[in-house]
Amino acid sequence: MDLYKDLLELIQDYSIEEQNIINKAYETANLMHREQKRQSGEPYIIHPLNVSIILANMKADASTIAAGLLHDVLEDCDMTKEELTKEFNSEIAMLVDGVTKITNLDLSSKNAIALANTRKIITSVMEDVRIIIIKLADRLHNMKTLEFMKSEKQQEKSLETLEVFVPLANYIGAFLIKGELEELALKYLKPEEYESVSGQMQEILEKSKEILDSMIETITYTLEKNNINYTFKTRIKNIYRVYKKLSKNMKLNDIHDLLALKIVVDDIPTCYQVLGLVHSLYPPFNSEFKDYIVLPKTNLYQSLHTTVFAPNDMFVQVQIRTSKMDLVSQHGLATYWHLNKSDARFIMQERLKEKFQFFASLNEIDHNAKDNEEFIMRIRQDLFSNRIYVYTTKGDIIELPSGSTPIDFAYNIHTDIGNKMIGVVVNDQYVDFNYILKTKDVVKIIISDTAGKPDKSWIELAKTSIAKRRISEFLNKNEEKDDRQ
Ligand code: MN
Repeated sequence: MDLYKDLLELIQDYSIEEQNIINKAYETANLMHREQKRQSGEPYIIHPLNVSIILANMKADASTIAAGLLHDVLEDCDMTKEELTKEFNSEIAMLVDGVTKITNLDLSSKNAIALANTRKIITSVMEDVRIIIIKLADRLHNMKTLEFMKSEKQQEKSLETLEVFVPLANYIGAFLIKGELEELALKYLKPEEYESVSGQMQEILEKSKEILDSMIETITYTLEKNNINYTFKTRIKNIYRVYKKLSKNMKLNDIHDLLALKIVVDDIPTCYQVLGLVHSLYPPFNSEFKDYIVLPKTNLYQSLHTTVFAPNDMFVQVQIRTSKMDLVSQHGLATYWHLNKSDARFIMQERLKEKFQFFASLNEIDHNAKDNEEFIMRIRQDLFSNRIYVYTTKGDIIELPSGSTPIDFAYNIHTDIGNKMIGVVVNDQYVDFNYILKTKDVVKIIISDTAGKPDKSWIELAKTSIAKRRISEFLNKNEEKDDRQ
């Protein structure tokens, strides 16, 4: 089978032992699914094979690829977790079991058992982020083959993809998968809009091809004159993201990062050197310069972004980054498979805890939710609602659920900042505490050691559980004090 050959080719650098386990997983999956067909009429094994190929392209470890091949055997065949452990090992069995559990995840159920189950799944899945990555690969292949499903199923899967899997992909920085999932979901949910946006973008791309080529030529000349190693890539903005901007009444011409030129270089000092060279050729549009190298996004993304005045009154975004940053921009957390295969799973789990804001929020919710219902409600509200990204005056990016107020911002930075808050300045203007923050707002909290004190009404104004909880804690403590006096 051709797909199997593709897989073998991708894993030819793996050790013999690793290749053996992947082969065995393939043979087992092939046997277990032998009588099943996909909706397309093809043999079922096509699906797990495609999932494992997506994972092998991310340079996943052998256990993850094997689990990708076996990911549907617990759900669809009469194999048990114990049998998987015996045939393979407990690691692969745990991964397959984890993926099977997320398949049954139901965030909308009100049933007490389902709620308890959902909570258990979410917290257990977090113990090994590879489960999420396998599930994302599974969903990506299912979305790519959605045409064979009934229209109702297409809508349902697409909505779930946008609500659950796109945020998950975003949280772990798997941008390549995230972009593909978004575009596929839009194609089924809004086919006309999808066609129209992609048509318009194609037109712009054709018109600007000459300009981009001339810019590449000019920049190349300068880079070579300065003995700089580089790779050029062009990228066109994801159709879904453009659609979202257009539906907020923006015009295509106002989207300045529609076209981006990526320059990938060896190290960080060279990034800044290239930035200077690019600016000397094309003047920057100052307000759109972003240094995500010094101030990375909340999912590790790093790069310099500058929008420049290109020929013919065009704006072109230039992104400058190292090759490691470029890998992170495609795979996020899964980049560690490329960098450090043997320890990758431990490093990934460590980074998740240290660096990813969503993991901290999830833990916070898990530790403080009164019951399972509140846990699920908070997960929906805090983690699977739209997110906004606001700045501190130092330029740090703070990620919050949309609808958040300065109260959320303050308590997300530090309990003391929240408890001592007496005023808020957003983009150099004083605002009220019920102001709804927007992406790109620059927020400054004014505090006072003596006059600051949270008010009961703040609990209602706050959107995040962390803020609500910290306000209640403060108020409870102070009540106790009052009682004693
Ligand atoms: Mn599957």
